[in-house]
Amino acid sequence: MRKIKPWVWILIAMVVALIVGGIINKTCVVSDKGADLEFNQTGTTLVSIFDYIGTLFMNLLKMVIVPLVFSSIVVGIAGLGKTDGFARLGVKTVAYYAMTSLIAILIGLTLVNLIQPGLVDGKPNEAIKSQIESKEAEYSGKVSAKIGDTSKDMGAVRDLFLRMVPQNVFEAFGANNKMLSLIFVALLTGIGMIFISGSGRGALLGFFEGVNELAMLITNWVMFLAPIGVFGLVAETVSQTGFPIIQLLAKYFGVVLAALLIHLLVVMPLILFFIAKVNPWRHFWAMRNALLTAFSTSSSSATLPITMRALREKAGASKRVTSFVLPLGATVNMDGTALYECVAVMFVAQVLGFDMSFGVQFTVVTLALLTSIGVAGVPSASLVAITIIVYNVGIPGAEAVIGLLLAVDRPLDMTRTAVNVFSDSCGGIVIAKSEGEDVLSIKRNEAP
Ligand code: ASP
Repeated sequence: MRKIKPWVWILIAMVVALIVGGIINKTCVVSDKGADLEFNQTGTTLVSIFDYIGTLFMNLLKMVIVPLVFSSIVVGIAGLGKTDGFARLGVKTVAYYAMTSLIAILIGLTLVNLIQPGLVDGKPNEAIKSQIESKEAEYSGKVSAKIGDTSKDMGAVRDLFLRMVPQNVFEAFGANNKMLSLIFVALLTGIGMIFISGSGRGALLGFFEGVNELAMLITNWVMFLAPIGVFGLVAETVSQTGFPIIQLLAKYFGVVLAALLIHLLVVMPLILFFIAKVNPWRHFWAMRNALLTAFSTSSSSATLPITMRALREKAGASKRVTSFVLPLGATVNMDGTALYECVAVMFVAQVLGFDMSFGVQFTVVTLALLTSIGVAGVPSASLVAITIIVYNVGIPGAEAVIGLLLAVDRPLDMTRTAVNVFSDSCGGIVIAKSEGEDVLSIKRNEAP
């Protein structure tokens, strides 16, 4: 009998989770309280089991991130031996990230202005408004509970970057939300190692190469559990999705999905085809495991080990490029998130009848671009950025609408995370090609 491929197992797990989650959602929900669903005893038990399995899988993936990211960047840069190669890679990477995020935001902005999901016949959607008015405190409370006491003024944008420089180097190795500082310390270490000589440099390089190999190996082991983990994550999401609210927000939901899919299925393939001159389909195929993992975990950071493995082993990009482009991209380059922030803010303004002049929309675009850089690669992280933007634009009463959006956030988060991860990987291909690498050749792509 032919062996079933790992990605097929993941796909099977997703379909089974969709069915099981759907049944629980249909049969175990006692009441739909608006922002939260209330389950009967069986539902509560099953959802907590799914949550347990999903969290365990996410933790296993996250566990590998710090050693993997740190050692990859250090080995990648120190291995270059000279700083000019690194500077060239850096400029190309930043240019690619800024350009694709801006394109994504403009797609979102165009669709949300054309379709106006928050309006009916040019006026704010009354059904959505009354849903919010009836549960205003509950929805606003949801947002505050999620974002904690983050300040929302421009200081918050500054603080996103302040996180980059830790007071103590070991802080960078702490929580996952410290990815920016981890990257910063890794960059400094890698560059510093180019300048030290003798046995110290050799010893450090050997050590980090070993750590990197080990982290990749552990990632491979973790992937054996992916179908179980993915089942837990997707089953939990589907059981907890408030379908009546999705219906209420159908137009908004549709605009976000359409914009994300245009970016994923039209813009990215065009970039791959015209700029990198590779077959886009071949790249989708190479990234299948990473796309499925991003979709089910809603976390670019947790997916990073899989993305790195896929870009190296399936697409054939060098260690040098993947080590630099992907860890940076997982935090800094979030096309789907930037697009989503822009659509969400515009939708909130439409529902509340807030006039968005050209100048204000320009501010939204700029802030979406900036904040998407600082957003952590974890589920629902863009909520913080959206709250910062509406606050700075000055939309009164926005928090309750954001709370309503939170009720349908997960499926959209899954999609935008897949877009974020795919864009990072396309960055890897574009840059690898520009460095003269032979990526996505037929031989490599035939591997399972
Ligand atoms: N979940 C997204 C990611 O990890 C971030 C977000 O848009 O909330 O890429």
